[in-house]
Amino acid sequence: MVNNYCKVCHQFDGCQYPLLPSKASRIRTKKCPNCGREVELVNIPTASKCRGFDRKTLYRWRKRGSITSIRGQGGRPLLYWSSLFRSDT
Ligand SMILES: [Zn+2]
Repeated sequence: MVNNYCKVCHQFDGCQYPLLPSKASRIRTKKCPNCGREVELVNIPTASKCRGFDRKTLYRWRKRGSITSIRGQGGRPLLYWSSLFRSDT
């Protein structure tokens, strides 16, 4: 069991996942609106490259709501980095 799991950003107490590679372009962060934890935002090409997931897969998960995203500048989706590490995707 995990403690204080957040269904929006998929973080929980003591969760660990790799830091974004520092060369990932322009790392942005925001506070999760649900739990207030800090989340890093990545665009889909970066997420695809860093995690080895196909872009189409990421779009599909995003549509399904398996990963959390917001709309960034120009309407392009930004994914919550932490939501790419949920155990059930
Ligand atoms: Zn959260």
